[in-house]
Amino acid sequence: MSYKEKQLDIKTLKKVSKSILKEHTPESIDILKFYKISMDEILTGVLCPVCIAKPMERRDGSWLCEACRLLSSNAHFKTVADLFLLNNGVPVFNKQFREFLHLPSPHISRRILESLNLPQTGTGKGRRYLPPPSYQDFAELDIQLY
Ligand SMILES: [Zn+2]
Repeated sequence: MSYKEKQLDIKTLKKVSKSILKEHTPESIDILKFYKISMDEILTGVLCPVCIAKPMERRDGSWLCEACRLLSSNAHFKTVADLFLLNNGVPVFNKQFREFLHLPSPHISRRILESLNLPQTGTGKGRRYLPPPSYQDFAELDIQLY
């Protein structure tokens, strides 16, 4: 089995977690624990909302899909919601955010984080970002605005 094949489709995971949430309505569910998988097994990056071919690239403040040439300014919203879902609502560090979204630099990562106006905790290197208060709306946000 190749490395790629081992990775899980986050869409499937989310679909299942959504139905679990619907049935049991707990406060939160540790999705990784539930499926006994680790973060390394998750396919990361901002997926193109149109062709879902592969992670998009950050270019001049937008997201570019090299496969279908879609240019989006907000394709990362869903990915950010995914990150918080996978992180079980635990605040994330800039580094985690940058790696998950495949961002080229901590500076760009920080800028995107700031643009999301997320609640923060800690300072300097210990700064972490919390899911937005209206997390449900954020997670439900559909990428139809591109
Ligand atoms: Zn595409």
